[in-house]
Amino acid sequence: MTAKRDYYEILGVSKNATVEEIKKAYRNLALKYHPDRVPAEQKKEAEEKFKEISEAYAVLSDPQKRQLYDQYGHAGIDQKYAYEDIFRGADFSSVFQDLGGFSGSIFEDLFADLGFDIFGGSSRSRASRARTRGRDLEITTQITLEEAAKGTEKTITVPRYEICSTCSGSGAKPGSKRVNCPQCKGQGRIVVSSGFFQLAQTCPNCRGEGQLIQTPCSVCHGQGRVRQEHRLKVKIPPGVDTGSNLRVRGEGEAGTAGRGDLYVVIEVQPHPVFQRHGNDLLVEQTISLSKAVLGGEIHVPTMTGSVTMKIPAGTQSGKVFRLRGKGIPDVHGRGVGDQLVKINVEIPTRLSPEQRRLMEEFARVSGER
Ligand SMILES: [Zn+2]
Ligand SMILES: [Zn+2]
Repeated sequence: MTAKRDYYEILGVSKNATVEEIKKAYRNLALKYHPDRVPAEQKKEAEEKFKEISEAYAVLSDPQKRQLYDQYGHAGIDQKYAYEDIFRGADFSSVFQDLGGFSGSIFEDLFADLGFDIFGGSSRSRASRARTRGRDLEITTQITLEEAAKGTEKTITVPRYEICSTCSGSGAKPGSKRVNCPQCKGQGRIVVSSGFFQLAQTCPNCRGEGQLIQTPCSVCHGQGRVRQEHRLKVKIPPGVDTGSNLRVRGEGEAGTAGRGDLYVVIEVQPHPVFQRHGNDLLVEQTISLSKAVLGGEIHVPTMTGSVTMKIPAGTQSGKVFRLRGKGIPDVHGRGVGDQLVKINVEIPTRLSPEQRRLMEEFARVSGER
């Protein structure tokens, strides 16, 4: 490990800089090294830099820590504070206030990402220790082919965890108090002696919360959240097919850093008349022998109602006609599929004496025996 650089040097201020000068210097550097403002390949480096300047600021902006540093250097700080505790109590929020469009919250998120809990009051900073986004959820919904063709809106029921309304998520029975953790006496951390040094550690008993629930909420059993059926409306665009995956942002499981997303997987039910092939629809139509031979008109069902189609004379069984634009619209808006009409010619199996006579006549004039 390389020797730590001098905090004043890191911030580029003199040994007798005022708090305002220190704040200003830190703010300028923080804006410069915010990892989101540098190219991706420099992100890691910027993160390190950001941690370094933040540590320097945390020490030099705090009169007690600064005095300790001035007197004993890095050793004075490192011996008294665990790394995380260097940041505790430092005034970061006022540095990033009134940044206009460049909001302070992106720093808050960054600090949380870097593993620091330095913003806000105790409950907020403690919660941020384990800031996680809620899990993504997936749910399958069935729709008809007609709904897939036109698009629709579905009410979907998602079983998911919600903040318990009885205890507002605290996990404690209403009216009952949270009590200070006996192991750390409400500090959230315990001091462990390791030879000459004393190290502060997150309390394992309360996982750093400093408090324990005395009587758990009877509704959520102390979990702070309950499983509930959540209903929401989901817009399904025209053209979706089985396996289409719609992402609904922020409708997944709740987490301390916001909700995950909900993925709605589409399942299109089989249709009694139409078979789907991509964006095309196939329908089979049976016509009589005489219509196949002589030609004529037939009525064909389509997604938008029945249409009349001309059958040319001499149509063979198995012939496929194409009705342009009568299929399913492309889900990405690239045109509309066609409807394919496959003709089956029905060969009569039972003939009346009259039909039989005419068939024989037909065979005779065709030169058949
Ligand atoms: Zn509860
Ligand atoms: Zn504790």
